[in-house]
Amino acid sequence: MASGPPIKLYNTLTNSVEELQLEHPGRLAFYSCGPTVYSYAHIGNFRSFLTADLLFRLARTLGLEVTYVTNITDVGHLTEDDAADADGEDRMAKALQSKEGERFANVWDLARYYTGALLQDWSALNLLEPTVRPRATEHMREQIQAVETLLEKGHAYETEQGIYFSVASFPEYGKLSGNINADALDQEVREVVSDPDKRDPRDFALWKKDAKHLMQWYSPWGWGFPGWHIECSVMANRYLGETLDLHAGGEDLTFPHHECEIAQSEAISGKPFAKHWVHTRFLQVEGQKMSKSLGNFLTVRELTSSKDEGGWGVDALALRMALMSGHYRKPFNFTKATLKASVKHRERIAAAIQLLEQAEGDGPDRLGERLEGLYDRIQQALCDDLNTPEALTAVIEGLKLIHGMSKGLNRASADAGVAWLNHVNDLLGIIHPETPEATETEEDPEAAGIEALLRERTEARESRDFARADAIREQLTSMGIEIMDSAEGSTWKRRSSIG
Ligand code: AMP
Ligand code: ZN
Repeated sequence: MASGPPIKLYNTLTNSVEELQLEHPGRLAFYSCGPTVYSYAHIGNFRSFLTADLLFRLARTLGLEVTYVTNITDVGHLTEDDAADADGEDRMAKALQSKEGERFANVWDLARYYTGALLQDWSALNLLEPTVRPRATEHMREQIQAVETLLEKGHAYETEQGIYFSVASFPEYGKLSGNINADALDQEVREVVSDPDKRDPRDFALWKKDAKHLMQWYSPWGWGFPGWHIECSVMANRYLGETLDLHAGGEDLTFPHHECEIAQSEAISGKPFAKHWVHTRFLQVEGQKMSKSLGNFLTVRELTSSKDEGGWGVDALALRMALMSGHYRKPFNFTKATLKASVKHRERIAAAIQLLEQAEGDGPDRLGERLEGLYDRIQQALCDDLNTPEALTAVIEGLKLIHGMSKGLNRASADAGVAWLNHVNDLLGIIHPETPEATETEEDPEAAGIEALLRERTEARESRDFARADAIREQLTSMGIEIMDSAEGSTWKRRSSIG
């Protein structure tokens, strides 16, 4: 089943559903914006990540060689990020000063902790590991170099406070979001512009000079930190080349984030940055915007942890199914009723697996052909602008077929049923969790950080600073890491988050 129809997706750049065009036939270069790790990601964030995961799965099952890159923003950007030139409070610093932030020694600790939490929730929801998961803090040199290049090419200029991208130097600015009217842009940013030396209110920051910032790096312009948008340009181009086939994110990123990514990357390379742009509409909870103040801010861990632990005790794959029950391009209303329906579907899946396992007896396969037809329908639905509701309808029909055979189910038919469920899982990830083993090997993306913490704990124990040693153990535990102490020293392993 390694070929099929072409993938058609709505392209925000052209405002139409288009076939995905690959720069290199057979290979898909795909970037999806990841989270800022200043808090637990909520289920809205995960709905956007799920869109990316489904595109990754679909492309793979169609036989494409996919390089899927999704980043971690572990630099604290500003709370007014929705304006082109962000101002306001630094999100990480704000989180550190909050009640939840009291447990962290510093902002690096905080970023590390929430990165670990993100990876746990990621695998609990059965999102596949990307090919590369770059961190902004690990690509500082490339970000500085990109700013230097933009200065050299006359697309940027320096003030007392920072380096800015000159929007006037890039006439195509606005082509993604339609924000081409300079007056409208002026209006949008006027409130938050605080640098009097900016030449044009539309210009956005590439680098902020700030020797007091909690996270700072040394640059040709002194101590400071990068603007929000430059990291994605740099990491996307570093791992995927100058032109990406596909770029995804939540709808709020269209402007300014993605518009600014395009301006920076195209000003540097002179080539199109991304050919296809996919944006996921926002999730709401029971018809309301999700927010901490409304008490409807839902995280994966809250929904999936057991009732004893204060959670809702929901099966993680039922949550995944609920999140894909609405089309990515329509606003999604997450309700208890949707979740309940998905829990029921997951029970039907479990019961079908049991039936298939127990089936015995000879006879011809009476299921395979019809199930294959349904697989094609699922794949076709996904290729048709990622129509997940239609794909799920076809899955439910397949389950009905399996259950409908009940006692008459012979071994050959059951084998066809098992194969079908596995193929459905490749596409949708709702049948069984993919093994999280990959994160237990030496390639664990968190390994270096975990090892550093472990060394720090050993040193603390040796100098009899048991309070610090305990605090580190607690931090590792909350990241899902189990420490094993022995006479030879301490080792660690990742606890599986899937029970
Ligand atoms: P952030 O951590 O704020 O950068 O967000 C990470 C991703 O989640 C981005 O692609 C956002 O567009 C997306 N996102 C944020 N809130 C929601 C929401 N309520 N529904 C869907 N996606 C969201
Ligand atoms: Zn981004």
